[in-house]
Amino acid sequence: MRGANRVLLRDSIYHTIRHAILTGEYQPGQELRGQILAKEYHVSPSPIRDTLLRLEQENLVTVLPRQGYRVKPISVRDVQDLFAFHLLIEPACAAAAARVDGMNAEVLQRFRAFVNDDTGEIRFLEHNMLFHRAVADLSGNARLAAVAFDLAEQFQRLTRVSLHVFNHEQARNEATEHDAIIDAIQAHDPESASRLSYEHAIGAHACVAAALRAHHAGHDGSSECGTATEVRVAMPARSRPICEIACLPSGTMS
Ligand SMILES: [Zn+2]
Repeated sequence: MRGANRVLLRDSIYHTIRHAILTGEYQPGQELRGQILAKEYHVSPSPIRDTLLRLEQENLVTVLPRQGYRVKPISVRDVQDLFAFHLLIEPACAAAAARVDGMNAEVLQRFRAFVNDDTGEIRFLEHNMLFHRAVADLSGNARLAAVAFDLAEQFQRLTRVSLHVFNHEQARNEATEHDAIIDAIQAHDPESASRLSYEHAIGAHACVAAALRAHHAGHDGSSECGTATEVRVAMPARSRPICEIACLPSGTMS
């Protein structure tokens, strides 16, 4: 195989396995054996080994001495850290998006009025992720957007692990909150965009925490399920340092 093709194959294997972890196809705590994966993906062990090492650096898998790899369990600490970081990043993105001049925010129009009774949970989760990505993109800050994208994917991992608690009323509420965030961004009102986005994130955390508790209850408290329990939704005082950095008006740095 030529060098370029080998790189493409390695990248493709990496993205496929990463996606399987983030969407819950490979469950938290599940063992991953290099030889079995190589057979499954019809490749030699080498690209699988590279992929697993990359995923270990991203904290998505852990190495088991002499046994292979395991999908990293979701710990209470992980979830708390994720929630706390999310509360800083999401409002920062929304506020920065609201500060962008012009009609760019019109791209959010397509996210309005999405939910109806036929909207399944997977479609809603995808819609939700795309909405938050679009807001992050609008922020105009590539570094902030990259962090927000990564967080959105990590959240996807949490929510997909425990989809059975999804309900339409909750999805409708979230969609209504999205509409209010879109209103604030399109009205170029960073204060409201930040506040609404913060409240939306708090609500999402409560849902994820409830889902994780329900998921864990389904496992009879077994430690094998690999998901966090006893997750509290923290309501820290709003802090805005990241927001203020992200929202420096143009020209401030010159
Ligand atoms: Zn949302």
